[in-house]
Amino acid sequence: MNILVVGGAGYIGAHMAKQLTRQGHAVMVLDNLSTGFRRLARYGSLVEGDLGDAALLDELFSRTSFDGVMHFAANSLVGESVERPDKYYRNNVANTLVLLDRMRHFGVPRFIFSSTAATFGEPDYSPIDEQHPQRPINPYGHSKWMVEQVLKDYASAYGLDSVSLRYFNAAGADPEGELGECHEPETHLIPLTLQAASGRRPDIKVFGRDYGTPDGTCIRDYIHIEDLCTAHALALSALVEGRLSGAQAFNLGNGQGFSVQEVIAVVQKVVAEDGHTLVVKDAPQRPGDPAVLVADAGLARQTLDWQPQFADLETIVRHAWAWEQRQA
Ligand code: UDP
Repeated sequence: MNILVVGGAGYIGAHMAKQLTRQGHAVMVLDNLSTGFRRLARYGSLVEGDLGDAALLDELFSRTSFDGVMHFAANSLVGESVERPDKYYRNNVANTLVLLDRMRHFGVPRFIFSSTAATFGEPDYSPIDEQHPQRPINPYGHSKWMVEQVLKDYASAYGLDSVSLRYFNAAGADPEGELGECHEPETHLIPLTLQAASGRRPDIKVFGRDYGTPDGTCIRDYIHIEDLCTAHALALSALVEGRLSGAQAFNLGNGQGFSVQEVIAVVQKVVAEDGHTLVVKDAPQRPGDPAVLVADAGLARQTLDWQPQFADLETIVRHAWAWEQRQA
């Protein structure tokens, strides 16, 4: 298939481009490199440009008949979204509309959308399934939820088939060590903890030990990047083969939560094997962090026949540590 991976120079998109290429698909990556990295765009042909650039999209879509578009290009910092909602609504919503409308114009039939657990807001219950109400509590979550709603209306009005995948905590790295997590600034727990272990940061700060959880720290559902990408590939195949149609959405996680303290303990164990230690400090809660976010991904497992291969947290951390050691 011909597949356009928008945001394919970012953490998730780059792993996706590799997996699709390995499966024999022809991949084109569109990325404006605002938060992506040229060195991650190792697979597929990179077109440097913006998803809101209608003329560029017209050129790409008239040159190649794509079987589907996978869209990973978004701003994703919750705190920044509260301070600069204009940026989030423009890039994550308005620019996505440009992409969808150019796809419609050229008859590109399928869309896989990178959504998020942040569309659920403060959960009413755990694990979170697809029936859980979606009440985002910040502009980032709102922007992703808005696109999910657009996709429902585009499915009924224009016949655009789509799958939105709501990620819990994407983590880990390419098991072959070629790709890994890269964000500037980095805000995620596992890479920050590994950077503290490799000496690239002085310490890791635990944001709050006073949550209503067994050890007082937040609980999250970490899902290996490779498993996350597999779910996207399966979703696209299901659309192509007609097993799914309309606007579908699935939660993606392992269904098992780990506290911040537990994650740090696993990191400490893994890095100790290479003679590394790290300094752990306490810090206040980060605004907007729910105590527990765990996915019920039963629907994705059933409908997409998705079987995570790297559900074990230690494996996730080992792959991420191998990548971090190459960065230090
Ligand atoms: N966290 C932390 N220290 C950090 C970064 C994150 O204690 O330096 C906590 C954060 O409060 C959350 C969990 O780790 O409970 C995962 O945060 P991350 O930013 O990795 O992902 P999120 O769950 O926000 O998408």
